[in-house]
Amino acid sequence: MSARFAIPEPSRPSLAIVGAEARFPVRRIFCVGRNYAEHAREMGEDSREPPFFFMKPADALVEDGADVPYPPATGNLHHEGELVVAIGVGGADIRPADALSHVWGYGAGNDLTRRDLQAQAKAERRPWDMAKGFDHAAVCGALIPASELGHPIEGRLVCTVNGETRQDGDIAEMIWSVPEIVTHLSGLVTLAPGDLIYTGTPDGVGVLERGDNCTVAIHGIGRVTIRIL
Ligand code: MN
Repeated sequence: MSARFAIPEPSRPSLAIVGAEARFPVRRIFCVGRNYAEHAREMGEDSREPPFFFMKPADALVEDGADVPYPPATGNLHHEGELVVAIGVGGADIRPADALSHVWGYGAGNDLTRRDLQAQAKAERRPWDMAKGFDHAAVCGALIPASELGHPIEGRLVCTVNGETRQDGDIAEMIWSVPEIVTHLSGLVTLAPGDLIYTGTPDGVGVLERGDNCTVAIHGIGRVTIRIL
């Protein structure tokens, strides 16, 4: 009898769901760059251009309570607290009016970033993958289904490091709303069930050091805490 695969089959990344035993299977992770005006300014940008996207590998996911090894090849690891959107129904060229019917749920995330590698990539006009897509770089707390929560358009987003507030924004301040993000992204790729979208971070991004505890909390939606080893 021949094996179905030549090597052991990789495990499927997944996320916890609030109040449920079933887990949310994760397919791809998309991220929006510069989706809050104040963060765009702190990164040296001040224009309202169409949203742009980058990706992280799905197996970079880490969940609430995880210990995250300080990543290699950086001396400038940053937190980015973000609203995460979980896609439940796929589609292409999704209209804004239909977009929320494709959203299964929401969570609090942390788009960990090797800021020095990102700055170098920007300067040399190279891809961001190694700045954004490293191991353990996609932090996401338990998802809450839209069937319970609805589709929030506001909610205070706070990122604390060792209890000290670093980021204090509101998802209402996003330049591109969740429906607009789904519409733009589905014009670039066909969205599929299990896709996650990190929707960008407010201003106040900053350094994480070994031993730090970092929590991202979005009022009414969720929270996620990691410790950097
Ligand atoms: Mn981000």
